[in-house]
Amino acid sequence: MRSENRFEALAVPGVRQLKPYVPGKPIEELERELGISDSIKLASNENPLGPGPRARAALAVAMANVGLYPDGSGHDLRSRLARRHGVELDQVTLGNGSNDVLVLLAQAFLAAGIEAVYSEYAFAVYPIAVQACGARARVAAARPADDCQPLGHDPSALLAAIGPKTRLLFLANPNNPTGTWLDETALDALLRAVPPEVIVVLDEAYHEYSAGLGVPDGTRWLARYPNLVVTRTFSKAFGLAGLRVGYALSHRDLADLLNRVRQPFNVSVPALAAAAAALDDREHLETTVGLNRAGIGQLRDGLARLGIRAPASAGNFVLADLRRPSAAAHDALLRQGVIARPVGNYGLPHHLRISAGTAAQNERLLAAMDAALSATR
Ligand SMILES: *Cc1c(COP(=O)(O)O)cnc(C)c1O
Repeated sequence: MRSENRFEALAVPGVRQLKPYVPGKPIEELERELGISDSIKLASNENPLGPGPRARAALAVAMANVGLYPDGSGHDLRSRLARRHGVELDQVTLGNGSNDVLVLLAQAFLAAGIEAVYSEYAFAVYPIAVQACGARARVAAARPADDCQPLGHDPSALLAAIGPKTRLLFLANPNNPTGTWLDETALDALLRAVPPEVIVVLDEAYHEYSAGLGVPDGTRWLARYPNLVVTRTFSKAFGLAGLRVGYALSHRDLADLLNRVRQPFNVSVPALAAAAAALDDREHLETTVGLNRAGIGQLRDGLARLGIRAPASAGNFVLADLRRPSAAAHDALLRQGVIARPVGNYGLPHHLRISAGTAAQNERLLAAMDAALSATR
């Protein structure tokens, strides 16, 4: 535990009450701590294949240009994205990961006395972005654990949480860490019911994984709802988490506001080049999505055989319910060189989030979980 921070009283109120984001444990850290090797990480929803060949090739070329600042307008990538999504160039905002875009939205629309709405068990970056701006979060109750979308977003609770001071509503579809989603009917009804002066941030970080599963593509509503922002990322299915590039699609006036607070060079030279190349690599995306579908099935079946429920997920991860504090199992997994993600910070101390890896990695997780459960039972 760290002792008192001597500058605490000088910090702005929002920052004083913040707890930093806890990322998945890096492999190097685990191996350094335990003196082991050959570990696997299924803790941060990364693509087990990494980037595809086109992105790798583009990256190698781009490295020759890192002596220069990137194109601050990201023109090439933005025009490719605009074409891909059937929107205008000035509707695309690039971010240093989609996390950056979420922060830009908070900076542009939130301050003390203003509120943002999101659901219980929503992505951990939302509370941080909201609080850092000194704004207040209204947290809507999630659906119950025995719902058909266990712990998922409840549109009526989200609507009820909207008040006169609400400017932003954050909603991940599918959601991380629950893997749950709203279908087209539910999402359309929600978008229709949200007042036009509340901006809906529809976070589609897992869109490429969820698209074939009946999860709607939010970009289809951009023209109908000017208060809608759809965020996407290259960190998940495109396998570029380490490069940090994501984007928002929105009404041009909204993009204009985000652009005012955006750092001029927020996306690096290699990131711009690799993302542009990754967009065209349909083959790698298909391989990735197929591998993930198989991996999710493998994990859910294997966990079920161990008596652990992991509901259907539209992402590249499952949320396993151990029905007792998960810390002991998490530690036992670590000692076997397997990193999963504890989600106590989400208010889910009995769960572990497990990213789908390769078939061999999933098998190893399941064997380690079997051993962990026997050792801690
Ligand atoms: C991983 C994730 C992101 C994206 O993170 P990046 O900053 O783009 O790497 C955004 N939203 C959710 C819900 C996520 O799980």
